[in-house]
Amino acid sequence: MDYATRMSRLGTETAFEVLARAQALERQGRDVVHLEIGEPDFDTPRHIRDAAVRALDEGWTHYGPSAGLAELRETIAEDVSRTRGIAAQADHVVVTPGGKPILFFSLMALLDEGDEAVYPNPGFPIYESVIRFLGAKPVPLRLREENGWAFDPDELDRLLTPRTKVLILNSPHNPTGGVLSRAMLDRVAEAARRHDFYILSDEIYSRLVFEGEARSPASYPGLQERTIVLDGFSKTYAMTGWRLGYGVMETGLAKHVARLMTNCNSCTTSFVQRAGIAALRGPQDEVERMVAEFKRRRARLVGGLNELPGVSCRMPGGAFYAFPNITGTGMTSQAMADGLLDEAGVAVLSGTSFGAFGEGYVRISSANSFANLEKALERMHDFLSARVRA
Ligand code: PLP
Repeated sequence: MDYATRMSRLGTETAFEVLARAQALERQGRDVVHLEIGEPDFDTPRHIRDAAVRALDEGWTHYGPSAGLAELRETIAEDVSRTRGIAAQADHVVVTPGGKPILFFSLMALLDEGDEAVYPNPGFPIYESVIRFLGAKPVPLRLREENGWAFDPDELDRLLTPRTKVLILNSPHNPTGGVLSRAMLDRVAEAARRHDFYILSDEIYSRLVFEGEARSPASYPGLQERTIVLDGFSKTYAMTGWRLGYGVMETGLAKHVARLMTNCNSCTTSFVQRAGIAALRGPQDEVERMVAEFKRRRARLVGGLNELPGVSCRMPGGAFYAFPNITGTGMTSQAMADGLLDEAGVAVLSGTSFGAFGEGYVRISSANSFANLEKALERMHDFLSARVRA
């Protein structure tokens, strides 16, 4: 078959491939601890599930507006206005099946062939994949462990050109857990005004911040107009399989993104959107409980990683990942990920799954029970002790 050439430019997310490999080993009777996938291991809170069932019974089973149900858009606008300190209105909001389509649709609406988009590397692999797919030029912005997993702002300045259309930021960050400081955002704000680009601010982990705050670039004077805030329900409310996310952006772009929704999905599932209203308006104590549990696991995981031979790990400020430096083991990231899965029964991701600058690291998700994290640390210790001289 002669497939479209653009398909050769589309990448993927290796987490799903590693999950499939781990499951194949399990089918052969092997025991595997899953630390590869980025999804909360908690159940969706009861009152949100009840709201969905109620919505089904009430007949929320039909098409709705492409941009989302008016009541959910209003609720999101209120929530984002409060949490980011901005004045968002319902017509700035587009609701989509998960946060991912906001990435795809907003880049599709903004990038022409030959435009440049700067994105974090290591970073969520879908950024580079979509930029490339659209025929634009992906420009990697290196995140540096020694900068607390921020970029070097002078390096950002050097990468910006008259063709820079979009800068993608992700804070708290996948895979490093880094949270962008106010000083760094000040530099971004300055650069955005000078160079006139959009900021796609992926804030999907906005509620998973363990110390201080993660500021949104949208909260800077004059930046709300040029910032697309991406957020959703997957991580905050343990709703990955429901597929519910949203973007907040200037109204002209919101209309284009809604038209892409009309062309692609028609709308987001109506009863799921009703559950989204219950999630935002209802009690938040379960979210707080999940965040507290992730914080407890973070301390155990990072403490344990720092005791492994050849491994060192910074304390992540947010999200539910650790991104340890493994260069002291003498192994490449891929060899480490393969060895841990095949020989030790621990599934993690190679840092290179997040771009070339992820070499020397692996990503470990703490979306598994405390007991399983301890089991994984023990297995990693045995695996590395046999290979690395202290
Ligand atoms: N952005 C980042 C950085 C992520 O890690 C993910 C999910 O893993 C997403 C966006 C997409 O989340 P969803 O489409 O489930 O809302």
